[in-house]
Amino acid sequence: MIEPGERSKELWQSARALIPGGVNSPVRAFGAVGGTPVFAERGAGSRFQDVDGREFIDYVMSWGPLILGHAHPAVVAAVRETCAKGMTFGMPTALEVRLARLVTTCVPSIQKVRMTSSGTEAAMSAIRLARGFTGRDLVVKFDGCYHGHVDGLLAAAGSGLATFAIPDTRGVPASYTEKTLIAPYNDPDAVRALFARLGPQIAAVIVEPVAGNMGVVAPQPGYLEFLREITAQHGALLVFDEVITGFRLALGGAQALYGVTPDLTVLGKILGGGLPAAAYGGRAEIMDALAPLGGVYQAGTLSGNPAAMAAGVATLEALAANPPYARLEALAGHLAEGLREAAARAGIPVWQNRVGSMQTLFFTATPVTDYRTAKTADTRRYARFFHGMLAAGIYLAPSQFEAGFVSTAHTEQDIEQTLAAARATMATLAS
Ligand SMILES: *Cc1c(COP(=O)(O)O)cnc(C)c1O
Repeated sequence: MIEPGERSKELWQSARALIPGGVNSPVRAFGAVGGTPVFAERGAGSRFQDVDGREFIDYVMSWGPLILGHAHPAVVAAVRETCAKGMTFGMPTALEVRLARLVTTCVPSIQKVRMTSSGTEAAMSAIRLARGFTGRDLVVKFDGCYHGHVDGLLAAAGSGLATFAIPDTRGVPASYTEKTLIAPYNDPDAVRALFARLGPQIAAVIVEPVAGNMGVVAPQPGYLEFLREITAQHGALLVFDEVITGFRLALGGAQALYGVTPDLTVLGKILGGGLPAAAYGGRAEIMDALAPLGGVYQAGTLSGNPAAMAAGVATLEALAANPPYARLEALAGHLAEGLREAAARAGIPVWQNRVGSMQTLFFTATPVTDYRTAKTADTRRYARFFHGMLAAGIYLAPSQFEAGFVSTAHTEQDIEQTLAAARATMATLAS
């Protein structure tokens, strides 16, 4: 574990006095790995510096948004120029239309799109829309999938399959999650059983088409196709939460990669290019159920904010002009291969899941296909790995159950430096 620098120590002390747990989002507090969080000062490309001047190669990348790396010049310039002309109007702007056109061009299943400020809001609104459109109340979600901190979706399985969900946070009444049904990820039979019992009441199935919030877990062959088919059969909507996967796995997201078309898509993270923007969209016939055309209400003071739209436009235009997906696949593949080798050489059992530029190295010998198997990971060993890497200047997610991201700014040298640190750190884990 590295000792925090003086400035970090001071800030952490003040932060804890002023902000609950010292952070504005819980995972940042290093609760799962121990130690003092790193306070970021500045970033450029694949690297950032902390407030004590130490440099790190970053694989968190703000949890996904920074596919072009920190402070990409085109994104920074677009935001600067836009802000100078006014930060917010509460009126329509040309930038919203431009981003909407980019989104619908990149993701053909989206005919119309509504912008929000966070992925949480977008997922919440997509569910409301699905319910309003179908006139049904129940929603199926998967154990270990995260859709933001929406009351009704903060639920894990109660006493197992086909049980109405119980909230997994305090402050959410059980009655708020009783319309949420939980099934294990990658388990078609569990979903079949829910539809057999409750099909006519199910408004939607919401899924991360590649799960990223229990660590990375890919859909098994045929699984997304199965979800498409069973929802269509029963008149329920299929909602892909592509807040992580959108514009990351392909310009068209996971739905393009796997060739499965959802009814609604939730976007965020990369969409905002590092500023707060998210969105949900789908077929016009469904989206037109939203106010002011239809009876499903949803709004936002800063929705479609010009600065966020400008960052999103600059990011998507850069991706569309020069699609980086083949290079990201090669870089991330090199990293993944090297990490696996480093673990094998040290005799450390690991299971690796990777899809394109998102990956997780689980410290378990068990194949990880759902949340139950993800939880077989040795989180204490992960914490030691995390701190070993941190001391070597490599910033990984401060939790085992997160995705690691490679950006277009990462270089082969970054990967080599990371693998050298991994080989040294893995060797210390065996003891
Ligand atoms: C990050 C995330 C969200 C929530 O987005 P916020 O902008 O943090 O509210 C929703 N769904 C998925 C899959 C995410 O990864």
